[in-house]
Amino acid sequence: MTEPENTERLVSENEALKRRVEELTDFIENGSMPLHWVNGEGVIIWANQAELNLLGYQKEEYIGFPIQNFHADSEVIENLLNKLSNYETVQDFPARLKCKNGDIKYVSISSNVFQQDNKFIHTRCFTKDITELVLEEKRKSEYQQKLIENEERLRLAITASNLGTWDLDFTTGIMQISSEMQTMLGIDFDRDDSGIILNYVYPDDKKAVSDFVSKLKHGKVIGPFDFVCRFLKSRNIMIWIKVQGTTYMNLENEIQRMIGCVLDITDIKNSEEKNAKLVSIVNSSYDAIVSKTLNGIVSSWNAAAEDMFGYDAKDMLGQPILRIIPEDRLEEEDFILERMRAGEPINHFETKRITKIGKLLDVSLTISPIRNESGEITGISKIVRDISEKKQEERRKNDFVSMVSHELKTPLTSILLCAQAMQRNFQNGNIDLGNKLAQRIEIQSKRMTSMIQDFLSLARIGEGKIQLRFEQFQLLGLIEEVVDEARYISNKHVIKINCNDSFEVLADRDKIGQVLTNLLSNAVKYSPRGGTVIIGCEKIDEGNINIYVSDQGVGISKSDQKKLFNRFFRVEKEEIAHISGFGIGLFIVAEVLHYHNTNIQVESTIGEGSKFHFILENKG
Ligand code: ADP
Repeated sequence: MTEPENTERLVSENEALKRRVEELTDFIENGSMPLHWVNGEGVIIWANQAELNLLGYQKEEYIGFPIQNFHADSEVIENLLNKLSNYETVQDFPARLKCKNGDIKYVSISSNVFQQDNKFIHTRCFTKDITELVLEEKRKSEYQQKLIENEERLRLAITASNLGTWDLDFTTGIMQISSEMQTMLGIDFDRDDSGIILNYVYPDDKKAVSDFVSKLKHGKVIGPFDFVCRFLKSRNIMIWIKVQGTTYMNLENEIQRMIGCVLDITDIKNSEEKNAKLVSIVNSSYDAIVSKTLNGIVSSWNAAAEDMFGYDAKDMLGQPILRIIPEDRLEEEDFILERMRAGEPINHFETKRITKIGKLLDVSLTISPIRNESGEITGISKIVRDISEKKQEERRKNDFVSMVSHELKTPLTSILLCAQAMQRNFQNGNIDLGNKLAQRIEIQSKRMTSMIQDFLSLARIGEGKIQLRFEQFQLLGLIEEVVDEARYISNKHVIKINCNDSFEVLADRDKIGQVLTNLLSNAVKYSPRGGTVIIGCEKIDEGNINIYVSDQGVGISKSDQKKLFNRFFRVEKEEIAHISGFGIGLFIVAEVLHYHNTNIQVESTIGEGSKFHFILENKG
């Protein structure tokens, strides 16, 4: 090779070397891997751009400074430098570096020592930024920690709420049962491979539950579900349970898993049932049942209260109870509220209340405080019984006693007067007058006898002691006797008999006589302007005879007709207010006929007259 040739080759080789040095320098200066050198005193003597970029420093802020300054953990860098000064090679040494802006970078450092002639020149450090990785790891472990905490919380909640839990894996068909669920249901297995748990569902609910489970299996229920059924706890105690769960699908959208819980709701169900029973008792009660607040505001109003007071529940709820208290009794409410606040119940307090249309009712109140679970008085319940009828009957009974004395005294006085007159006339020998007086005595005595007979009958009916003496007799004969006795009572009336002499009945003759006497005397009494009274019999079919008494008197309204046969009932009407009576005649009539297995009937028109009739079997 010639000299010039040699020089040319050297130049080109030099050129190539220079290029390679330039490329290499560029590679380490500008490559993406952060690199630095630290000398034996721990001072950074060189760093590439990637390293500066990683921490955000300018060259002059980084190079020439102790590496210690840039580490967050001094013991870590001490440890690292220690290793290196012993010429150890360090691989993926974790450390935390401080950025210029205060951030911390997680890095992993790989380093060894560049030595020359056994002398420590500098360290060769590769810094790998693993911040993202570490943060991700951190996030993951935090998440895991949270998961563990949540699971623990759930476990505590489940234990505290007595929830039993289950987990059914559809691929294996195995159901895991928690110990709480085992205790709740009284079963002794913690896994169920073939659905034996369904055997203990209460028989009446088995079909519904099986149908639901098969729906679940066929993917017809997706997501959360719940149902309530009865279950035989420990195989023999019926409890109510609520089963809740949710389904989980796999990627093919098939059900893979079901997880859920079971809750014993027997207590809730029982109190619901008790409540429903109470509500139906309250609703079907004949007594008005009302509740109100301690301030006297109505909070419940049952159907009987609606009927009794004429106010609908919607009119009364939220309104003051004062509406149904008569003005002159308003202070009663203060007294009631005071007693209630003191927790003292009031039993059978008789008072008066007023209806929507202003009618006064005699009522008996039973009032009790309502307490909440902790025993505090929160309201008042009131049972209102309408005792108007009872009160009226009491009044009638009292009137009856005074009337009986009065009524018996009248004929007795008359008899006494007649007897005295007769005594005087007997001495005078006035036969005609004597006869008349004797007749008067007879009439009055008969009136008294009939009255006393009615009182006795009333007493006997009350004691259930009526005894019948059956005999077959001719009706016409009895009717004539009854009419004969009644003729004396009035001369304003025409009494007609309309009876075939062939009619015969099997009955208690005296009692049927008493019935006819009562009906006939009423027909006369309640036709104050006279008119025709007919007492008669008619055949209604082969076997039966209709016996009736009709008049042209004052008549009886439809509503009074319903109450006519009640004991002590009397029609309250000005037109007949002066007519005396006890209100027991028709009651006795109805009872006597009842004992004969028949009924008294009435047809009547106000102002035109009335017809009372009953049927007896024809034996003629
Ligand atoms: P009393 O006649 O003693 O009042 P009753 O029991 O016989 O008792 O009758 C009850 C009521 O029925 C009477 O008060 C009267 O108002 C009514 N009453 C009974 N019979 C008749 C009649 N024939 N016409 C009109 N009202 C009658």
